[in-house]
Amino acid sequence: MRVTDDRYTRDRQRLDLAIRMIRHEARTQTIRTWTGLTDDRIRKLYRAYVQAQSKQPGVAVVRRHRGKSPRQAAFFLRNLETRREAAALAGLFALLGLLQEAARDVRAGTQAALRWGDLFCRVYETYRALHRSHRISFEHACHLLHALERRAELALDACPSCDALMVVDMLRTRTPVCAWCEAEQRARQQHAVQARALGAGVPAALSLTDAAGVADFPGLAEVPDVRTADAASARPT
Ligand SMILES: [Zn+2]
Repeated sequence: MRVTDDRYTRDRQRLDLAIRMIRHEARTQTIRTWTGLTDDRIRKLYRAYVQAQSKQPGVAVVRRHRGKSPRQAAFFLRNLETRREAAALAGLFALLGLLQEAARDVRAGTQAALRWGDLFCRVYETYRALHRSHRISFEHACHLLHALERRAELALDACPSCDALMVVDMLRTRTPVCAWCEAEQRARQQHAVQARALGAGVPAALSLTDAAGVADFPGLAEVPDVRTADAASARPT
């Protein structure tokens, strides 16, 4: 009787974790690896979940992603917003011990794997609650954790300017500052250029293009100033 109870509880936990992962649009392969459920069972769960969801007006539609999980480390460093969110997510991984407890060490569907999956979901849900924009998907979050564990492409470091935690490229050629400090630096540079332009009586927009050296290349003059666009979109989340 006891054995039956344990089996029932384990099965229930697997199904609960799978539903939670489906809600976060995790891929079938990831759900199978963590829960130990078969592809067929995951497909049936997905269909049942979407069917139940369609009866609730106003609830966001869950999409099913196919193919391989994301593998590009550069995704997290592509702009200031993704760098901020990657740093926040990596901080939560470190805080809750996920960086020390590698997922690859646990077997699919075991109690250890289910506990690990539950912890990962809690971290991801906390990140989503703190970032309305949530640019990092569940699968990208898995990839970030694995990349940080391997320390092959990405690593955690402290900002040399403010000591904040940041995600850095392992192959970087210079020490970067965190996304918050870089946004401040860009804003300061922009203000300085604008102040000089106003002092010299030159239109600010023209002066910014000149300062970037773009004016020397007529074909590039129509490309928007990346620094201006990044500074404008560097809003707190
Ligand atoms: Zn900093």
